[in-house]
Amino acid sequence: MKSVSTRCAAIAPSPTLEIDAKAVAMREAGINVIGFGAGQPDFDTPQHIKDAAIKAINDGKTKYTPASGILDLKKAVVEKFQRDNGLVYEPSQIVVSNGAKHSLFNAFAAVLNEGDEVIVPAPCWVSYPELIKINGGVPVYVHGPAEQEFKPTAAQMRAALTEKTKAILLNSPNNPCGYAYSREELQEIADLAVEHDLFVISDEIYEYLVYDGAQHCSIASLGEKIKENTIVVNGVSKSYAMTGWRIGYTASALPIAKAMGSLQSHVTSNPNSIAQYASVAALNGPREELAAMVKEFSERRELMVKLINGIDGLSCVPPKGAFYVMMNVTSAFGKSYHGKKIETSDDFCSAALDGVKVALVPGGPFLAEGFCRLSYATSRKNIEEGLARIAQFMSELV
Ligand code: PMP
Ligand code: GLU
Repeated sequence: MKSVSTRCAAIAPSPTLEIDAKAVAMREAGINVIGFGAGQPDFDTPQHIKDAAIKAINDGKTKYTPASGILDLKKAVVEKFQRDNGLVYEPSQIVVSNGAKHSLFNAFAAVLNEGDEVIVPAPCWVSYPELIKINGGVPVYVHGPAEQEFKPTAAQMRAALTEKTKAILLNSPNNPCGYAYSREELQEIADLAVEHDLFVISDEIYEYLVYDGAQHCSIASLGEKIKENTIVVNGVSKSYAMTGWRIGYTASALPIAKAMGSLQSHVTSNPNSIAQYASVAALNGPREELAAMVKEFSERRELMVKLINGIDGLSCVPPKGAFYVMMNVTSAFGKSYHGKKIETSDDFCSAALDGVKVALVPGGPFLAEGFCRLSYATSRKNIEEGLARIAQFMSELV
């Protein structure tokens, strides 16, 4: 058999999804694993959203829809942008896709030519480098130092620009670091993008998950010019506990929306029709369950930060958004756990999973070697038990 394409051969599987699958498989085999791996709300999808899906099935909304999404959902997305971000779009500027991951794929496909560079703030979510590379682009990482909450500034981004730079990627609130850019910081990035006529791909999937008074601001709302250059990416996965339904969306200038819609019409056709009707109910529906979920995440975050910082040799910075904590594990490097040498965050995670049955994601794939990512989208009981096991693990290092 001939080999797979060079482009596909270069892609590694998603480590976040892989670790989650490993934890699930261990659990199914009867092993008591605590999963701090893949980030997805542990809450159930609210009942009114499920009811809308059941109604859609019973009403026969089970046929193809327009490839870029039903008008009712586009209108609900337009209203969401107006209500939450002060952004005015037409339904024709909205493209609904199979999750925000797919929206991001479409966005990179729509703006990148072979060799175009994309400024990527690092550490970054594991899928961005692969999504850029699949579309012929070149990620250019701009590292935000730990003492700056890992948040790169506009000045650092400016220093990384070349004549090949085509776009800046933003992810605020951020996975994995938990920072959120302020309006002022975004204004500086917007000025840079407008000055150099760069696209901004702004992944705002964790928009509602902000704590300690942090406010989410969409860079697209900072003026007509930056709005024109920005593709806002969002979705229902994290905000409405709907990760499995696979609905994401973009808002952009019309030519970009048309390009993404045409691409999607050949690749996937419409996203699942039933999930689209459920998403209309999510976006237009009551917000109480969302508010309760955010409050609970915030309290779990405080618990997790306190427990990590209470373990000898481990530390973390309290995150302001999303549902992840980056735990510094460098004090374990050079030591051994039951004869297994720990030199990298990958070694740390493997030893912790084998030894004390706690699933963590290593920092390497996030470009954050020396750290492990823990998701606090799990119960307080799991957080307490999981960190007690990590404390035990640390005490057994020699
Ligand atoms: N962006 C970020 C930063 C994420 O963490 C995720 C997690 N899945 C996504 C996009 C994709 O979300 P989904 O495809 O479930 O909408
Ligand atoms: N985005 C989540 C995470 O970072 C879910 C898994 C994935 O899509 O990567 O864990």
